[in-house]
Amino acid sequence: MFIGCHLSSSKGFLAMGKHASALGADTFAFFTRNPRGGAAKAIDPADASALMEYLGEHHFGTLVAHAPYTLNPCSPKPEVREFAHECMADDLIRMEATPHQYYNFHPGSRGEQDLETAVGQIADLLNEIMRRDQTTTVLLETMSGKGTEVGAAFEELRAILDRVKEQEHIGVCLDTCHVYSAGYDIVHDLDGVMTAFDRVIGLDRLKAIHLNDSMTPFASHKDRHEKIGRGSIGYAALRAVTEHPACRDLPFILETPNEDEGYRREIRLMRGEIPWGESG
Ligand code: FE
Ligand code: FE
Ligand code: ZN
Repeated sequence: MFIGCHLSSSKGFLAMGKHASALGADTFAFFTRNPRGGAAKAIDPADASALMEYLGEHHFGTLVAHAPYTLNPCSPKPEVREFAHECMADDLIRMEATPHQYYNFHPGSRGEQDLETAVGQIADLLNEIMRRDQTTTVLLETMSGKGTEVGAAFEELRAILDRVKEQEHIGVCLDTCHVYSAGYDIVHDLDGVMTAFDRVIGLDRLKAIHLNDSMTPFASHKDRHEKIGRGSIGYAALRAVTEHPACRDLPFILETPNEDEGYRREIRLMRGEIPWGESG
């Protein structure tokens, strides 16, 4: 399995690769810019290629970059959509400094707009910024459905995917906390959830997993990540996700409330290097 966590990009690309190794990780996530969406730091091409070489030498899985979570590609406010457009267009150019990785984003919250309008806005934005010759695969993240979030139902992601022109460069990232909160019961019926994903979206579209426990109950439509094994999903169900044939070869990204030590422990835990009973 490939597993890692969110890392700070403040010391550059190669530093993230080394940081990941120090935690026992062989993939990682990073925010392409300040998570609140401000200006991005200039990319040092030599540092970016040093990371690419490092990833190859250390047999890393694909990285899962994350767009700022405050962007809203389907906001009712045109200026908010325009800001998402600018940041994501720039991010896709920057991502080519580290070719062939994933770029994950939240489809957004539609406010008082209907679903059809929101889906159109998200797809239009993607069609304006994606290019045939890009190497990055853009991932839509499954959402918990808090407020008016788009992407809590697999059908909503399907509707966006259907309208994207660059089919070669689009996929989905499944967040375990979000899908459980959205009402997909991965605790009691993981096979059923993966079958539904396959029927509605297609398992060939599943490219990455955000591996999180949840602080809130099943179908709560909340988005509160918990440490592995401390929440409503539990260790056994999350372990089953990492072993499921549809998931086990994908990059797993921990977005649990931890510092380095906690991540190091959760990585070992999910790899089966320490038993759950002794670490819980
Ligand atoms: Fe996310
Ligand atoms: Fe996530
Ligand atoms: Zn979340």
